[in-house]
Amino acid sequence: MTTTDEILASAPQRSEQLATPELTATPQRKLAVLTCMDARLDPLRMLGLRVGEAHILRNAGALATDDAIRSLSVSQRLLGTQEVLVIMHEQCGLLNASEDDFKAALAESGVLPSWRLGAFDDLEATLAASVARLRASRELPFRETVRGLIYDPDTGALREPSP
Ligand SMILES: [Zn+2]
Repeated sequence: MTTTDEILASAPQRSEQLATPELTATPQRKLAVLTCMDARLDPLRMLGLRVGEAHILRNAGALATDDAIRSLSVSQRLLGTQEVLVIMHEQCGLLNASEDDFKAALAESGVLPSWRLGAFDDLEATLAASVARLRASRELPFRETVRGLIYDPDTGALREPSP
């Protein structure tokens, strides 16, 4: 039995608790969060938010990629959000990963992707670059509200690096 099979088998037990007929697709706190897919991160609990209050976008590294900008653009232009938080974290899988090794492994599989891994060696500098990219993205009408935070999965602490 795969994890997916187990999830499907137990889904009916969760449905009543999950149902949100009182909510709409518009996030109540007008916030969009871009964070990493790291399994240790629970963005709603981390931010003290509830379901329905914010958009949560996740990718490897919490990077401001073209597709993250696409989703943030939908979030602001179609669904009313006005603030953006980018949350990177300590011990990220992309920290000190090798762009070249990853590229070589893909090439061995016969793939030359148009995207890059996004490996980085300086967490704060990478966060600052993502924040700067979003603040310069005219796809986002509310780009001046973009801020960056760093989370530590070991301690649960969330901090805003000084600019
Ligand atoms: Zn990560």
